[in-house]
Amino acid sequence: MSLCPVCLARIDAVRREIDGVVWLQKHCPEHGDFSTPVWRGRPSWGEWQRPKQPATPVADRPLPDKGCPFDCGLCRNHRQRSCTVIIDVTQRCNLVCPVCFARSNPAGPDDPGLEELERRFASVARMSPGSNIQLSGGEPTLRDDLPHIVAMGRRAGFGFIQLNTNGIRLARDEVFLKRLADAGLDSVFLQFDGTRDAIYRQLRGRALLDEKLATIDACAALNLGVVLVATVVPGINDGDLGAILKLGVEKTPAVRGVHFQPISYFGRFPEPPELKDRITLPELMRAIEIQTDGAFPVKQFSPPGCENAMCSFSSKFMVQPDLSVRPLLPVWQGCCGTPETFEEGARRSISQTARQWSGVPRDHLAMESEADSVPAVATPVGKDNVMDLDQFLRQVRTRTLAVSAMAFQDAWTLDLERVQECCIHVADEKGRLIPFCLYNLTSISGKGLYRP
Ligand SMILES: [Zn+2]
Repeated sequence: MSLCPVCLARIDAVRREIDGVVWLQKHCPEHGDFSTPVWRGRPSWGEWQRPKQPATPVADRPLPDKGCPFDCGLCRNHRQRSCTVIIDVTQRCNLVCPVCFARSNPAGPDDPGLEELERRFASVARMSPGSNIQLSGGEPTLRDDLPHIVAMGRRAGFGFIQLNTNGIRLARDEVFLKRLADAGLDSVFLQFDGTRDAIYRQLRGRALLDEKLATIDACAALNLGVVLVATVVPGINDGDLGAILKLGVEKTPAVRGVHFQPISYFGRFPEPPELKDRITLPELMRAIEIQTDGAFPVKQFSPPGCENAMCSFSSKFMVQPDLSVRPLLPVWQGCCGTPETFEEGARRSISQTARQWSGVPRDHLAMESEADSVPAVATPVGKDNVMDLDQFLRQVRTRTLAVSAMAFQDAWTLDLERVQECCIHVADEKGRLIPFCLYNLTSISGKGLYRP
């Protein structure tokens, strides 16, 4: 099942594989045929699949009334619990990006009050205890009371709190960043679309690279983990993936992960998408391998243990003292192993994501600098990159880099099977949990399903 991109009516859809390309094909009685590529090339869609047993997300789920995807809350059709719950703390933003899933701008509506946010944390704690939290928007750092909100999340019992941000304020407001860190912030999910200002001018409306780099340094000084998050747009930054990864490697241990998001066409985007405007996960994996001269090879990326296999890939690499990388996981094992059930996959994903994306513990960093300052103690890396066990463990503790990607679904690519297995949920103002893609989904004319 899918939706019509024009009228958002629920319609039948099929996945059809033709010469290695999987198309989502559907027909609206009123608006005609739609055919969109959702998987292009190797690893093939067939070999990427991974069967799982359904989990029970929440106890008191409503019965579907209008039917999926119109009764999110989550309804009983949903087969996966939340790993990450997103709480939008504002709709306002200090940028007006040509590409924005939230359609934010400086003159957004009033922010939700602290009491309202307290209720939201409480309902998430009830429906999805132990989830990781991401504070998002809009641009959350526009709120001066953001440190209070982080502390509120901590008090509500959440163990990992991440901030989704463009970094503009963090780059220049050390006091604010320190207050966030002191309040218990673990990780900064930093919009980072490329290593050249031309990319930011096209995607974000102005040059931003200096501010991005300053934010990384500021987070490093406070031991906050940073994840570089790139929206990948064909023809704009799909040639910069290798450069982003190289920079990520150089900025370890402050940078803990690089996360790629192929552009989806919801919210605000310049034009309705043509075939050339899409990049699917296997294309992204192959581009990463080519642009890094094989340092991050396709065979090291694994399907998720938590969400639907079509939605993401990930791997982990150790950065060696000479800044070369070595894969940390066996081929096809993934960060979440091979769980038998959605529930197990979710539990593993929650804890491993929190550990990897947080800052490196200070005692581990101390170990590293100690070793660096006493060269006689450190084991030199031989010409064939052999390390002794101590050095290996030290590098693993301090300098691992997670590389991952998530393919969001828009009105053209929406596949209700995938949505029902989603684990990235938005907690809305009505106390509901709504899969991220459905929350942000808009029709070709900009009509939404859930986002106010
Ligand atoms: Zn229609």
